[in-house]
Amino acid sequence: MNHQAVAAQGPPLLEVANLATHFRVGTRAVPAVRNVTFEIRRGEMVGLVGESGCGKSVTALSILRLLPDAPACVVEGSVRLDGADILQMTRQELLDIRGRRIAMVFQDPFSSLNPTMTLGAQIMEAIRIHTGASHREARQRAISLLRSVRIPDPEQCLRRYPHEVSGGQRQRVMIAMAFACQPDLILADEPTTALDVTVQAQVLALMTELRRETGTAILLITHDLGVVAETCDRVLVMYAGSVVEEAPVDELFRNPRHPYTRGLLASLPSLRGSRIRRLPSIPGQPPILTDQPSGCAFAERCSEVMPECRHAEPGRAVFADGTAVRCHLYRREGQGSSSDTG
Ligand code: SF4
Repeated sequence: MNHQAVAAQGPPLLEVANLATHFRVGTRAVPAVRNVTFEIRRGEMVGLVGESGCGKSVTALSILRLLPDAPACVVEGSVRLDGADILQMTRQELLDIRGRRIAMVFQDPFSSLNPTMTLGAQIMEAIRIHTGASHREARQRAISLLRSVRIPDPEQCLRRYPHEVSGGQRQRVMIAMAFACQPDLILADEPTTALDVTVQAQVLALMTELRRETGTAILLITHDLGVVAETCDRVLVMYAGSVVEEAPVDELFRNPRHPYTRGLLASLPSLRGSRIRRLPSIPGQPPILTDQPSGCAFAERCSEVMPECRHAEPGRAVFADGTAVRCHLYRREGQGSSSDTG
């Protein structure tokens, strides 16, 4: 593992507490995300992993309030940025932090960029809105940003439209735009999934380098544990809308506690050993949103399921090494939970 950790000290930059997002389906409120609690410190890179549909993107969109407003969607809990609750901010306060303090990089840069504007106009617009820079200053900053994301001939790139550059270059432009105002935090939602493996490695290396230079914290949403191992300081594992395990990356790979995390790690290919073996997979499917079981959402797939798992949702057990797990195999938070009872 290659941990390029930036010392993450001081009070949390972002504190998410008991975040819940429900979508209205007919007369019902269907929980897409629930009980999500975590912190991100300045300069930290935190991975958010889990299967498709587990709530990773909804979590990120809820943090920046980018989901359609009630009644389509209801967000509860709190999301504090340096102590100020984003969920309670006025529209103007919200607009002020988007891009300037928290930026977002989406999976598909083509649909995030405006096809009718040149790349230069889009980068410069972001810089001018959030920093008040003049046209000339914004242009200089845009050129310097494109240079820092290794775009060859940045001046020519500024004159191009999104369809005139490659997918890898579009994603680099999105990353340049995200870093344009030197935000405190970037929410990167599968930023390399649409790219081929070589370009993916380059883009991840670039984000890691920019993070080190700027001190920007990154929440990296991915389904790829290999990417997390290479780039992140801590990891949050999501399942069926909840964070079921949170741990420093080294600790998670050395000592995964939640049965779902263990299943995920067991299904990773290994270069150790010479025998060819079939990779184990986790049997079954995650529950569908409209039909969530009572008790633990993983119970139907868990090899360690116990009777209480089917009745009561597991609480959050916290360990001295910084790990937190939601599983009945461990004691609940606040009940002498600083030791490993598993
Ligand atoms: Fe398995 Fe029970 Fe833990 Fe859920 S709470 S992961 S069913 S042991």
